Amino acid sequence: MKIPWIFHQDYDIPLPKNHRFSSSKFGDLYTLLIDTELSKNAEVFIPAPAKEIQLMKVHTQEYINKIKDGNLSMKEEKVLGLPWSETLSKRSYLAVNGTYLTSDLALSHGIACHLAGGTHHAYSNYGSGFCVFNDLAYAAKNMISEGKCKKVLIIDCDVHQGDGTADICKDDKNIFTCSIHASNNFPTIKAKSDFDIALDDTISDEDYLKKIQSAINICSKEIKPDLVLYDAGVDVHKNDKLGRLDISSEYMFKRDLEVLNFFKKKNIPIATVIGGGYSNDNFELAERHSLIFYAANQVFNQKI
Ligand SMILES: [Zn+2]
Repeated sequence: MKIPWIFHQDYDIPLPKNHRFSSSKFGDLYTLLIDTELSKNAEVFIPAPAKEIQLMKVHTQEYINKIKDGNLSMKEEKVLGLPWSETLSKRSYLAVNGTYLTSDLALSHGIACHLAGGTHHAYSNYGSGFCVFNDLAYAAKNMISEGKCKKVLIIDCDVHQGDGTADICKDDKNIFTCSIHASNNFPTIKAKSDFDIALDDTISDEDYLKKIQSAINICSKEIKPDLVLYDAGVDVHKNDKLGRLDISSEYMFKRDLEVLNFFKKKNIPIATVIGGGYSNDNFELAERHSLIFYAANQVFNQKI
């Protein structure tokens, strides 16, 4: 089986030099992956931009207009953490729909992997922490409203809490939000997910994996999903520039295998997004983000 990879050449974000977000992280990941053996077992899909009617399932008309027209105030841009540009606006419409396409392809293939996504800090009426639109809430709500699935479980393993996702989905009983994050990391004020695990900075690799196992066990019983969205954020890594945890590459990979194997055994489709990851070394960062693609290949396609 060829695993769907979802990517668009316009995903990268133009940024001033020395910005904490890597402007080329999506293209770097694509370049790295396409040269690996994995790509022989993958098929690349390109998303179309999100339609306004789909975005309005998650965001207010006023906020959508601000992103479309470039009318963010200086304060709003500061909270977002990214300077507005045509390119940023365009890529935000593409990336959010990329996670939707990933979800749709996961239903037909069992697994699909987005080379972007995990913009979990975006709230319905404002962007935050480098997140313009909330792709996880967008994909879950649109998949459900179009009748493609009934219950969605969002497993968010980014080191930062999925506060925007939790807030947007809080009254939706068909979406169950689970966030496993570092308690001392951004955001300072946490939202309330359906299930939160706040980790100490000093947690060991082994204990981290146990927390993940316990969380997926509990959450899958709570909602019995027919689709899982998995945010495989790599900012839990010990060398991450913004994360505070001390997790090794080996255990990050074990975490990904654990999550994928767990839901594959239950025949529940999984859409993966890359989530956060920060490093001055673009290649190292791409390598960390590539782990979820290796894990998907190992679990769903054992030939390589
Ligand atoms: Zn993060």
